[in-house]
Amino acid sequence: MMDSFTFPGLTTRVVFGAGTMARVEEEVRRLGHDKVMVLSTPHQKGDAERLAANLGGLAAGIFAGAVMHTPVETTEKAVDAFRGSGASAVVSLGGGSTTGLGKAIAVRTGADQVVIPTTYAGSEMTDILGETAAGEKTTRRSPDIRPETVIYDIDLTLSLPVSLTVTSAMNAIAHAMEAFYAPDRNPVVVLMCRDAMVAFRDGIPRLIGDPQDRTARTQALYAAWCCSTALGYVSMALHHKLAHVFGGSFDTPHAETHAILLPYTTAFNEAAVPDLLRPIAEAFGGGSAGGGLWDFAQSVGSPLSLKAIGIEEADLDRAAAIAVKNAYANPRPIDPGSIRELLQAAWEGRRPGD
Ligand code: NAD
Repeated sequence: MMDSFTFPGLTTRVVFGAGTMARVEEEVRRLGHDKVMVLSTPHQKGDAERLAANLGGLAAGIFAGAVMHTPVETTEKAVDAFRGSGASAVVSLGGGSTTGLGKAIAVRTGADQVVIPTTYAGSEMTDILGETAAGEKTTRRSPDIRPETVIYDIDLTLSLPVSLTVTSAMNAIAHAMEAFYAPDRNPVVVLMCRDAMVAFRDGIPRLIGDPQDRTARTQALYAAWCCSTALGYVSMALHHKLAHVFGGSFDTPHAETHAILLPYTTAFNEAAVPDLLRPIAEAFGGGSAGGGLWDFAQSVGSPLSLKAIGIEEADLDRAAAIAVKNAYANPRPIDPGSIRELLQAAWEGRRPGD
């Protein structure tokens, strides 16, 4: 029970279900647009072309060049293409990389965004944009960045490879983990995150057995929406900071980095706020939240060590130094020694607490 809170209101329209791709035109027109540009990664270009064909005259063009971490050079090319096409909105079809490109275009041109997420990364419900320029990633928040409409279509997640299904779900769980103790959390977000833990816990193991299991895909996408909503309404702390350090300064893959760090950052903050992280502990085995997440990660074949994604032990000092450079809110005070210990455990892949 929270005895005081601020609820910021929900500003993104959400359409959720199977076959909802058929509603893109209706949703675009609802926003008052008659020309859109469809965005995707090179890998999902075929899907973007099929969507554009279905949209007929509504589609003014495709830009299939989205890449991870939203490099500014890519955005500049996409903005030129967007302006040249005469479109007034973007339809972003894909994971966080494509959503990021749509946000970067929107913030520069005022375009509206209809986002169709195909991973569980959770950028679609947020006002956050991370961009890379000259090898450095910076993040900002602004109401102009938040998408107008999100269309979740379960059918589009059937093709998500098992490994990305697992790490992307861990990425989403990380948003919930930090929302549970965020100083600006609210009861709606906490309820959604509780529900998401159970839905991922039940859904992900089933998807390893059968990636086409529609009930489990529905559970996972629903959970992803809950976690993305949480990320969009509250501030993040140590976990997202560390993921940012490795992604930004060591170029590690986004979802895997979140997946590996999650049990360790959870255990670190659990020492300070065990009650707030109890929903995670309860959902994942009833012991500790950090240990429970490590056990879950191991059981679903999620990568467990920084070593496994190419980080050298010698990199850990530098990573710890970057992580503590600027002060930021965290439920447990941060100091170089304890962060270095956390990173050592994450590098080795040791179960937290063992
Ligand atoms: P991604 O978007 O790069 O997707 C990974 C790969 O999987 C791509 O090649 C993509 O085309 C492919 N793919 C996506 N969905 C698929 C599907 N259903 N079937 C088959 N292939 C599919 O990866 P991601 O993990 O979704 O997103 C990572 C990016 O999102 C990072 O740049 C991260 O910073 C950003 N992000 C931002 C926020 C935010 O709020 N700003 C939140 C989460 C993630």
